[in-house]
Amino acid sequence: IIERKQVESALRKAETDLRRTSKLTAMGQLSASITHELGQPLSAMRTYIASLGAHSSQETQDKTLGKLTSLVERMISITQQLRYFARSGDKEMRRVNLKDTIQGALNSTQPAIQAANVTLDIQQQDKPVNVLAGSVRMEQVLVNLIRNALDAMQENPPEKPRHLLIRLSTEKDKAVLTVEDSGPGISEEAQKMLYEPFYSTKPSGIGMGLGLAISTNIIAELEGSLSAENRAEGGARFVVTVPLLEREK
Ligand code: ADP
Repeated sequence: IIERKQVESALRKAETDLRRTSKLTAMGQLSASITHELGQPLSAMRTYIASLGAHSSQETQDKTLGKLTSLVERMISITQQLRYFARSGDKEMRRVNLKDTIQGALNSTQPAIQAANVTLDIQQQDKPVNVLAGSVRMEQVLVNLIRNALDAMQENPPEKPRHLLIRLSTEKDKAVLTVEDSGPGISEEAQKMLYEPFYSTKPSGIGMGLGLAISTNIIAELEGSLSAENRAEGGARFVVTVPLLEREK
């Protein structure tokens, strides 16, 4: 019995150590990622600001201002992604009409959609599609999927059409939200790693590899699912399903 107790206590200690180590590892990865992702635009900003001497022309100033604005926007999107870890207040679930989620997500992504020369197609029914969710989180999922689609289509050669489809439908007791793009599709390697935190094939400063990991978590909390596949005609398709609110079934 004494031996067994010793073994059990050693096991408990090993488990605690392991938990501590993996927490520290995750923190290390996150810190490295944030430092890198924010450090890069910050040092670019310093260079741009330094170049804005008193003698620079109006044209140079305007151009630099544009570059500074897009760097600030990139930093905002990084911090928005990280809000997921910080905000516990938004855990509150309420009735969310997914049509409003689409509108909300488009409000923040429309400028990027236009800038990327992407044609947008929205297919949805007239009736509301209500689910029980956190509205900000739900929007975060859709924004992630839209941004990923835009990033993917960035790689398209100029002659290949850039097309984004957002479809909202219902299927039995589920709401189905689909995001399709006409990009290169998900590579075989990415398919295996898609939902792993910190997995990204994007250049540094564009992707932290947290988007899909966070989105899957958000959807899992709603007892829904998030899946990805490549379309037969090329490009990727992401499908989010969330249980419909009881009374809507
Ligand atoms: P990030 O966007 O920061 O790279 P994500 O977790 O959102 O992180 O995505 C992980 C990876 O999944 C991306 O780097 C990319 O390789 C792949 N991926 C995601 N969405 C698409 C898409 N629409 N088309 C092709 N590949 C994609």
